[in-house]
Amino acid sequence: MTRRRRLYEGKAKVLFEGPEPGTIVQYFKDDATAFNNQKQGVITGKGVLNNRISEYLMVRLAEIGVPTHFVRRLNMREQLVKEVEIIPLEVVVRNVAAGSFSQRFKIDEGTPLPRSIVEYYLKNDDLGDPLVTEEHITAFGWAATQDLDEMLQFALRTNDFLCGLFVGVGLRLVDFKIEFGRLWEEEDMRIVLADEISPDSCRLWDIGTNEKLDKDRFRRDLGQVAEAYQEVARRLGVLPEAGPIDIKGPKVMQ
Ligand code: UDP
Repeated sequence: MTRRRRLYEGKAKVLFEGPEPGTIVQYFKDDATAFNNQKQGVITGKGVLNNRISEYLMVRLAEIGVPTHFVRRLNMREQLVKEVEIIPLEVVVRNVAAGSFSQRFKIDEGTPLPRSIVEYYLKNDDLGDPLVTEEHITAFGWAATQDLDEMLQFALRTNDFLCGLFVGVGLRLVDFKIEFGRLWEEEDMRIVLADEISPDSCRLWDIGTNEKLDKDRFRRDLGQVAEAYQEVARRLGVLPEAGPIDIKGPKVMQ
């Protein structure tokens, strides 16, 4: 195989030049970080599982009309995506209080929110990814008002759809983070969902027991971290053991 040019190495993924212009290969690592890189570790098999889980969720979202950067999975750890210009914002949607939200407002983790709340954080490690408002975003030109409107609509649709999908496999979608990119086609620009959606970027609790099946197990040293990621993949029907062409629908819990 020809050696591909490495474009960028992040905390959980490496990006390589894709086979055709305008494409990128996303390689999913097992590395895990938390608290702005202060905690580092390895979750064995995480990359393989997140590659599958993110593929599955992005494909399902595209089916309901949320555009994404995803093209196809290439192998166990890699997927082909469209090259986009990443908008430097983390869009967080919350359904239940947890994490930094619980701390900020002194609301117990697990308290359902009166409605879904969307927040924006600036992607900037030096500043510790601060919470920002629409005013900051438009004034500093990180995104235009029109782009923000579209991102908000896509984020809410993603939330509604994923809440239902996860409930179907016995999981509560507490909150999640997504990123968007600008996809240039000729002169036209479209906003699409980018990056990944996985237990690294979602809080997922078992509906029956409230057991955490996400990266909080790593952040909070709860143990059984890889097992939690496996359980999410298993419930979605995308555990690699199921075979090479194994993207089945989610199993409905009784
Ligand atoms: N999140 C993420 N990347 C980040 C920060 C947050 O994927 O850099 C996700 C996190 O997994 C959770 C949601 O966004 O599902 C909300 O996270 P929160 O603001 O509560 O931050 P945390 O408590 O994780 O620091």
